[in-house]
Amino acid sequence: MQEIKHFINGEYRGSSNGRLFDAVDPSTGKVFAKVHEAGREEVDAAVKAARAALNGPWGKMSIAERAEILYRVADGINARFEEFLEAECRDTGKPRSLASHIDIPRGAANFKVFADMVKNAPTEAFEMPTPDGTGAINYGVRRPKGVIGVISPWNLPLLLMTWKVGPALACGNTVVVKPSEETPSTTALLGEVMNAAGIPPGVYNVVHGFGSNSAGAFLTEHKDVDAYTFTGETGTGEHIMRAAAQGVRQVSLELGGKNAGIVFADCDLDKAIEGSLRSVFANSGQVCLGTERLYVQRPIFEAFVARLKAGAESLVIGPPSDPKANFGPLVSLTHQQKVLSYYQKALDDGATVVTGGGVPDMPSELAGGAWVQPTIWTGLKDDSAVITEEIFGPCCHIRPFDSEEEAIALANSLPYGLSATLWTENASRAHRVAGQLEAGIVWVNSWFLRDLRTAFGGSKQSGIGREGGVHSLEFYTELKNICVKL
Ligand code: NAD
Repeated sequence: MQEIKHFINGEYRGSSNGRLFDAVDPSTGKVFAKVHEAGREEVDAAVKAARAALNGPWGKMSIAERAEILYRVADGINARFEEFLEAECRDTGKPRSLASHIDIPRGAANFKVFADMVKNAPTEAFEMPTPDGTGAINYGVRRPKGVIGVISPWNLPLLLMTWKVGPALACGNTVVVKPSEETPSTTALLGEVMNAAGIPPGVYNVVHGFGSNSAGAFLTEHKDVDAYTFTGETGTGEHIMRAAAQGVRQVSLELGGKNAGIVFADCDLDKAIEGSLRSVFANSGQVCLGTERLYVQRPIFEAFVARLKAGAESLVIGPPSDPKANFGPLVSLTHQQKVLSYYQKALDDGATVVTGGGVPDMPSELAGGAWVQPTIWTGLKDDSAVITEEIFGPCCHIRPFDSEEEAIALANSLPYGLSATLWTENASRAHRVAGQLEAGIVWVNSWFLRDLRTAFGGSKQSGIGREGGVHSLEFYTELKNICVKL
């Protein structure tokens, strides 16, 4: 059986503790590989390699030289597109059509976009008068922050990991990556591409394992990591922040959400339905920016519910090997149990099940997979856990509203603030409402449209900091001011 190993100092190596865990295909529930679980020894070796590489050839390269190598990393992913696609779909079970349009191309693009951004980023300069009349000049220079710990989730494994590794390397840092235990494959495979592209040993390191008392905790407890960038659940973010407080290390946290979609009666209903179908059900609802709460203005409520139901029921459920499938399994049987517990909770709280609510009938070879039905509810009270907690599954609750103020208050009522979506053809209303929603990203008449130069991040309990474009520079570099007396 295939073994997935750590990538440390440019080489693949196993764990000295001999610990292995299963990589499971979520569409069948069958084990397809064994993954090495890092102990403190491997994490320490990775951090030491990353520290040494900062002082090696990588640290001496010009920005242009680094950018050239990062372009080759992007080209290297694209040259092995099929292998990355296969690995990502096997780990996650997601449809090939989705991963081939989003995960792999965007994963490659992250290296190009951030190489260009760093090449073209200006710094600041100020002339300053002094009492003796000669003056002084101040200018800023950016320096790498150092060794960055990257901890990533399973829902968009390559994309979200490279979204951090791309800018970190472009800025001259070195990284130790801990991918999700559910999805180790593409992060491991990237090591081969890094070597082939000429990334010096130690610049990109990967350690596999779990969170508590495993690779994740060992990495966040390691004293020689300078900063952590994390994407995952809010509770895990709190853990990481506490660990990073030892030694005052900086954190960038992209956390959970419970995103609202507001649909006004003056929307283009076709567009609102098409966009909401994607924002609720894409990647089987396992998108941090996805919508789990829909608020629909009363005059179009019935029509909206009926059309979203029809759309949900037309999704084609199947494994990555089925070219017609556009709706895959959840990432794991554990996650399936979590999502199904909310399906039960909805019933307990008196929801009307508009569609779904259970496990679909699958052929025997897929029956052990982590399948759940696309699900829509109405009729829940605003304080039901189904409405207030992140489920991270292919489901939403739809509630009617009457006034603009009511919709804004409902959308803002939770402690999360990652994204929001609103649908209206009234331009004044679009700007007025967008400005009042408490979220890091608001989409008007669209969803998941991302310009990588723009700020990305969450407000409230959905995160700390912004990444994307020049905002990534703030996290991945130290801005130093040099003051010269003339
Ligand atoms: P998770 O928090 O369970 O795990 C994320 C990563 O953290 C994994 O690699 C895990 O092994 C590691 N980890 C867990 N406990 C740890 C600990 N104590 N110390 C160090 N590392 C630890 O999240 P997940 O289930 O993989 O991903 C789903 C979550 O991610 C959802 O809440 C979703 O909203 C969120 N998410 C947010 C964004 C965003 O941009 N804001 C994007 C994608 C996913």
